[in-house]
Amino acid sequence: MMDIERHEFDVVVIGAGGAGLRAAIEARQQGKKTAIVCKSLFGKAHTVMAEGGAAAAMGNVNPADNWQVHFRDTMRGGKFLNNWRMAELHAKEAPDRVWELEAWGALFDRTKDGKISQRNFGGHEYPRLAHVGDRTGLEMIRTLQQRVVALQQEDYAVHGDYEAYIKVFAECTITRLLKDDEGAIAGAFGYRRETGRLLRIDTPAVVLATGGIGKSYVVTSNSWEYTGDGHALALLAGAKLINMEFIQFHPTGMVWPPSVRGILVTESVRGDGGVLRNSEGKRFMFDYIPEVFKDKYATTEEEADRWYTDQAGNRRPPELLPRDEVARAINSEVKAGRGSPQGGVFLDVSSRLPAEEIRRRLPSMHHQFKELADVDITAEPMQVGPTCHYVMGGVEVDADTAAASVPGLFAAGEVSGGMHGSNRLGGNSLSDLLVFGRRAGAGAAAYIDGLERRPVAPEDAVAAAQAEVLAPLERPGENPYEVHHELQRTMNELVGIIRKAGEMTEALSAVEKLRERAKGVGAAGSRIYNPGWHLCLDLRNMLLVSECVARAALARQESRGGHTRDDYPDMTPEWRRRLLVCSAAPDGTAVNVQEQPQPSMRADLITLFERGELSKYLTDEEMAEYDLAVK
Ligand code: FAD
Repeated sequence: MMDIERHEFDVVVIGAGGAGLRAAIEARQQGKKTAIVCKSLFGKAHTVMAEGGAAAAMGNVNPADNWQVHFRDTMRGGKFLNNWRMAELHAKEAPDRVWELEAWGALFDRTKDGKISQRNFGGHEYPRLAHVGDRTGLEMIRTLQQRVVALQQEDYAVHGDYEAYIKVFAECTITRLLKDDEGAIAGAFGYRRETGRLLRIDTPAVVLATGGIGKSYVVTSNSWEYTGDGHALALLAGAKLINMEFIQFHPTGMVWPPSVRGILVTESVRGDGGVLRNSEGKRFMFDYIPEVFKDKYATTEEEADRWYTDQAGNRRPPELLPRDEVARAINSEVKAGRGSPQGGVFLDVSSRLPAEEIRRRLPSMHHQFKELADVDITAEPMQVGPTCHYVMGGVEVDADTAAASVPGLFAAGEVSGGMHGSNRLGGNSLSDLLVFGRRAGAGAAAYIDGLERRPVAPEDAVAAAQAEVLAPLERPGENPYEVHHELQRTMNELVGIIRKAGEMTEALSAVEKLRERAKGVGAAGSRIYNPGWHLCLDLRNMLLVSECVARAALARQESRGGHTRDDYPDMTPEWRRRLLVCSAAPDGTAVNVQEQPQPSMRADLITLFERGELSKYLTDEEMAEYDLAVK
């Protein structure tokens, strides 16, 4: 076997976004030697791109806000498919996590009386997103990294070594999780992107915090790292993925020029007063308010506009409906021939706010459109359309500890599933990262404390991981970029925003063929910074995850949240009771989707909702449980 760099840690956190950093901080605070591994540069995680803010019911702008209202909004946004325990923990703990961030040095925008400012966002009843202009993710990562450095300085003072308790492995990609003979996590295997050197880290606990899967789609707001690695690593290690059919298509991505198609236009534009219009100049969202939301959204432009200054006396503008509703509405307008010249619709803030105010509130958006599209958003509308943005599905975890079904495996952030149900509300990801990142770090630490012995990876597993990584370099093979592009097109066109059984069946057979072709992809050149080789390895993950998405989407015969079926346009209570769970064989074959019943909500939580609202979502059997609970 060739020379493999070898390390040993108590906890290995894969991913250095908000979830990974918060998990690592927690594990270190609980005295565990912790490695943070990330495939991009340290500081360049996806979290950095988050613009709008972190949702937390602090009640700074509207004192009527509290965790119960946030819980209700989250469950409504997810169309009641959420893991209710996760939604409860999230709503209760998010304010503390934001205040903690402030104590660690985060500089949030302020209200006039000096509190952390909170802004409006789709699906949130009150202004709830703590923010820093439209660069909140950047401030979050800066603060968490600063906290990591502070802990390293403490460790230096005690142990004379900055890396005694937290070591960062930047630009390292993990390709396999290693398990011992009894099936417990024993390590992680990967390579250094810059040198191609192979790497093995022995550890009893791995926290997956690898983010999403957007790079399986052509039009996406996600950057190159989002290849579903953590989802695939979990699946290959024997863990399960849930809710994979639910992908969030953000309603407003840039549609022009083609080179930047998909790049996000933050929801804050609408939260701060921006409106959507079609080619006829009509504010069309009033035509798309679904029955379940009818009493919560304004039905006239006058009422919608009054809401910005008087929220107690008016209903919200329909531009602030949950993302799935807005994305579908834009899709329908474009299909009906009422789109903008470049195939989107118009998002106008220029006629709604003074130029100076736009530059102050939305500096990144102003810069982004000026630089990338030569459009001045203070003077003319933007053209926007749906873009693949977020995956609600992910590793099935225990809500309290973030533990997956494989002993020693934990997951937090976008790679985990359940919290957001069928659709995530904007702002609920950044708070999710903090709440469940912390819980995952604590869960891993507690797991280690309970171990009698440290699991050891068998050498043949290490040899197999090595052979798998090196294989693409040892064959001439097909160009991986061609296979990748075809996968992206297949997923965009056949398992995209509106789905049909025939098209998804076609997608599954296309993915099967692409998986065959992927076995033969190869990369010329050496192991030294070779992106073609890296893509060959990422393809395994994207193909596996895409198959899960397509299989689960084909199985779910209803429309709900991020999953819209042309052939089953309605949401049905029977399907709400069913979760779809994906598993696979260790070699990635035999992807299987099984139904699992959705546990009933605890009585004190279900009674937070009105009977009339619940009856739109729950089965008669569940309504009988509700009636018993309120008695
Ligand atoms: P990330 O921040 O993506 O971090 C993933 C980490 O995993 C990276 O360090 C990556 O290098 C590493 N990694 C991946 N695979 C491997 C591997 N194989 N080996 C080693 N390392 C690996 N949400 C909100 O709540 N509010 C917002 O305002 C908001 N705005 C957004 C704007 C944009 C443009 C986008 C794209 C998303 C936005 N979101 C927002 C969503 C939110 O930013 C993400 O869901 C969240 O940041 C994900 O965080 P994470 O910690 O799970 O993963």
